Amino acid sequence: MSTAHSDANSGDADLAIGTVYLVGAGPGDPGLITVKGLSRLRASDVIVYDRLVSQEILSHAPEGAELIYCGKRPNHHAMSQDDINACLVEKALAGHTVCRLKGGDPTVFGRGGEEALELRAHGIPFEIVPGITSAIAAGGYAGVPVTLRGVASSFAVATGHEDPTKEEAAVDWRRLATATDTLVILMGVGGFDAIAQELIAGGRDGATPIAFISWATHPRQRTFVSTLSRGAEDIATHGIEAPAVIVVGEVVRSAEALSWFERRPLAGKRVLVTRTRDQASEVSRLLEEQGAVPVELPMIRIVEPEDWGPFDRAVDEIATYDWLVLSSANGVRAMRDRLLARGLDVRALAGPKVAAVGVKTAEELQALGLRVDVCPDRYVAEDLAEALVSEGIAGKRILLARAAEGRDVVVLRAREVGATVNDTPVYRTVPVQEYDERVIGDLLAGRIDVVTFASSSTVRFFLDVLGRERALEALEGARVACIGPITEATATEAGIRVDVQPAEHTVEAMVAAIVESYRR
Ligand code: SAH
Repeated sequence: MSTAHSDANSGDADLAIGTVYLVGAGPGDPGLITVKGLSRLRASDVIVYDRLVSQEILSHAPEGAELIYCGKRPNHHAMSQDDINACLVEKALAGHTVCRLKGGDPTVFGRGGEEALELRAHGIPFEIVPGITSAIAAGGYAGVPVTLRGVASSFAVATGHEDPTKEEAAVDWRRLATATDTLVILMGVGGFDAIAQELIAGGRDGATPIAFISWATHPRQRTFVSTLSRGAEDIATHGIEAPAVIVVGEVVRSAEALSWFERRPLAGKRVLVTRTRDQASEVSRLLEEQGAVPVELPMIRIVEPEDWGPFDRAVDEIATYDWLVLSSANGVRAMRDRLLARGLDVRALAGPKVAAVGVKTAEELQALGLRVDVCPDRYVAEDLAEALVSEGIAGKRILLARAAEGRDVVVLRAREVGATVNDTPVYRTVPVQEYDERVIGDLLAGRIDVVTFASSSTVRFFLDVLGRERALEALEGARVACIGPITEATATEAGIRVDVQPAEHTVEAMVAAIVESYRR
């Protein structure tokens, strides 16, 4: 053991030197990073990441961390390996905690070993945090286990793209051909023709089944089953894409029985999410769980009301109110931000009872530490109005904090039974100023399967922003899903055919209804 190493790892060495974590981020599905990998990522202030590391994993980086992309594309190096090594060394010597995030496992064709050697040479402490390698995970997600009792009891992993600068160490395909039951090839799509010929020359039967698993564990995962002798031709004719894991061997036959990921109800379906950027992520996550590929095209933005006066005055007189009523989660967030901007917090809301239109609004209130006294079972304004009425609100004063352009149901009903309602705007929803034209192109070309509308304003702004005629044309080739009866009515009145209408007004119910529509 070198002195440099023991110093660096002993803890009483120069405290200014940072540690480098060589972390495997897993094959793509953001859930496939290890608990330890995630905690190391969260503890780092410099993140050096590769191309196949997902945005979602990167979103766990601490705020303010420096993100350095060193992705390599085929035949194109964004940063040379020397530059990457130098970068890790430089950042660690400057005292940063560095997370070197790599796709899959850092030591499987990931140059993790090289980087570790470089770090050791500079006396920089490091950890290797293993990850789930695509070599094994791809098969798992495709229903092709690399070993299977009675079918395969050994496997090998080889690279189909040897470093051309390496002199020896070329993969000996002929020897590998029959050495193990299962052979997994990474980076092998481009050169598959030559590889297959070598394997056959080495004695592997040309009829051996093989699987190309592209974008494994990603929503767009696609498995294509072929044979050793036909594979190269299939790559060309079926447009098989890299990155792909190639599995060679009898285990491939189990794909038919064991495939699961690509059989999920919405597998590969592209679903448009028209909510605000902030709110879209929740819908997107639910869709992804069902196998869909969410495509976010926000049509609305949330902005401050034109005048905060009415709300501010009401808060200053909060003790004169019996009820504080919130009709959306957006409203709760807007209210919170306004209080904070004025140097206040929820204490300024003490006094009145609290009512929420639905469970999401209630959760948002509870997150602020406010107890919710009334929350109807269904999530429409009519139910909230009735829930309030049954609380006995005659003669009571209600502060309603909501969207400037919301519906008047609660106001009218409460006034009808003799309550005084102060209806104050805390936000406005306005159309986006720009949007991604390519998504509209996809929609017009029939490349979007479902369009979701989670509010009446998303419907209206979709029509406004695109122009009515173009909007209707764009919707023709897709199923239209609305979150609830009000949104559906807005769509129907505008001449939009609504195909999916959930029983309950929640995004969960909307996603479930989309799934159901594909079962039918
Ligand atoms: N360290 C990585 C492999 C790096 S080499 C690991 O352990 O997974 C890059 C190659 O890995 C790609 O060319 C492809 O063959 C394979 N690969 C990585 N992620 C993949 C994925 N999600 N789907 C299919 N192949 C993948």
